[in-house]
Amino acid sequence: MLKGKTAVITGGTRGIGFAIAKLYLQNGANVAIAGSRQETVDKALAQLPEYAERVMGICPDLCSPEEVAAAFASVRERFGRLDILVNNAGISSRSSLYDYTLEEFTKLIDVNLKAVFVCSQAAARIMKEQGGGSIINTSSMVSLYGQPSGCGYPATKFAVNGLTKSLARELAKDQIRVNAVAPGVTKTDMVAALPPEMVARISAGIPLGRVGEPEDVANAYLYLASDAASYVTGAVINVDGAAMT
Ligand code: NAD
Repeated sequence: MLKGKTAVITGGTRGIGFAIAKLYLQNGANVAIAGSRQETVDKALAQLPEYAERVMGICPDLCSPEEVAAAFASVRERFGRLDILVNNAGISSRSSLYDYTLEEFTKLIDVNLKAVFVCSQAAARIMKEQGGGSIINTSSMVSLYGQPSGCGYPATKFAVNGLTKSLARELAKDQIRVNAVAPGVTKTDMVAALPPEMVARISAGIPLGRVGEPEDVANAYLYLASDAASYVTGAVINVDGAAMT
């Protein structure tokens, strides 16, 4: 479904991002895995030996326009194009408002929102010149109704939806589609860090009766990146077992 296309996936070293990277490679894409450290990028690449010719690693500071532009230029240099950007890097939070530090709140905004803006701008500049592209943002089911602690996390994901819908309208004239995927509870390190009783409580309320696998979620990114979604832009697709509906 993605033969000849090149994708950058932020937070592609593990969890949902790694599942997307693998699925994109299986579907013929060239993939640049963006991570926060060279060590984790190398670890991810080591798990994909059969795709060595079509996968590379980058680790720019996602909030630095200069570093991101240079990293995306290196992807273009290696693979000739940049067609798909997956803004997936993210951190969560469970702090109570009473204990929340401004430092933690700011860090959430940086990783979950500012990086989406910086990377989208750098990618859109390349995509416009190439005649189009697809940007896919990772939102969350809590972007629709919030959560009872860690208010910074849903706040940034609400903002990601806003960025998605606005950029979809702004960039449509350049044939750049912008969509988001809102995963439900998905079995990754982020969820492993939650207390088991919290995961059990959440799972009990999911109509499909289980938490999602990273692969369940990755399939939505495959669709949105492919030509099968050529008339889809500004959408936020829930992949959550109907947890929020
Ligand atoms: P994860 O912790 O396994 O992966 C997060 C990824 O983001 C890692 O690759 C990490 O290196 C990267 N990252 C974190 N901080 C970074 C930084 N400063 N710079 C660059 N990269 C950074 O978590 P995951 O569950 O795979 O989460 C991926 C995305 O899915 C996140 O945006 C998260 O908010 C979203 N999400 C996850 C769930 C879930 O239940 N797992 C649900 C809804 C949304």
